[in-house]
Amino acid sequence: MTDTKQITAPLIARSQCLVMGNWKMNGSMSFNNQLLNDIVMGAASLATSAQLVVCVPSPYLAQACERLSGTPVQWGAQDVSVHTKGAFTGEIGAGMLTDFGCRWVLVGHSERRTLHAESDAVVAQKALAALNAGLTPVVCVGESLQERDAGLAEAVIKRQLAPVLALGAEAVMRLVVAYEPVWAIGTGRTASAQQAQDIHAVIRRLLPSSDHTPVLYGGSVKPDNAKTLFAMPDIDGGLIGGASLVATDFLAIAS
Ligand code: PEP
Repeated sequence: MTDTKQITAPLIARSQCLVMGNWKMNGSMSFNNQLLNDIVMGAASLATSAQLVVCVPSPYLAQACERLSGTPVQWGAQDVSVHTKGAFTGEIGAGMLTDFGCRWVLVGHSERRTLHAESDAVVAQKALAALNAGLTPVVCVGESLQERDAGLAEAVIKRQLAPVLALGAEAVMRLVVAYEPVWAIGTGRTASAQQAQDIHAVIRRLLPSSDHTPVLYGGSVKPDNAKTLFAMPDIDGGLIGGASLVATDFLAIAS
């Protein structure tokens, strides 16, 4: 087990529905300005107590920090380095993210795992780097269509989570897991609520506490399927890609 003495991230309770947007590599100053304004305005009259978070491309963290400070909407980044600082051109350290008011950071998104060959071990190291800087990592896991069809979904999730769980209970109660079946990301093909719940239940059984470590579902979540998904007992909110770029959709998913 890794030494967790340096962890400064807060405990994360499951009691509040968490709706996080992943903007991916989208946006511009003017587009973001409009989107952030619309989200802030809509958040004020949200019928639920869901916590809204937007994970923006790193160049726009200053913009998010300026527009969202003092509002109920929080912001985060989409990746973090395993290193604190040094000769790592292009990398962004967790401390740099906290300088811009980030509370959250995605780690191990399937696009990072696939396009940047991030291993399960590296993803766990990124989660630890975030925790040590006081950030809440959102650890993304999920099987490909080929793995699901081969009956390997559970095994893949367990393998991906193993090095994260090895960080120890104190660490794991301070992070979020997002189950995102790769075949449902950006495809319009959502897992059924029961398919998602079945994997969430597997994940929940691996976690050290029933009160901490929210488990989010991600993969083509839209206003018309969010309620059914979020009503499942082990689904604590959502990680939203495409629909988080449309303020009315993002807000409708959270309401
Ligand atoms: C994602 O990329 O994290 C995601 C869930 O995307 P989408 O909602 O567009 O499927």
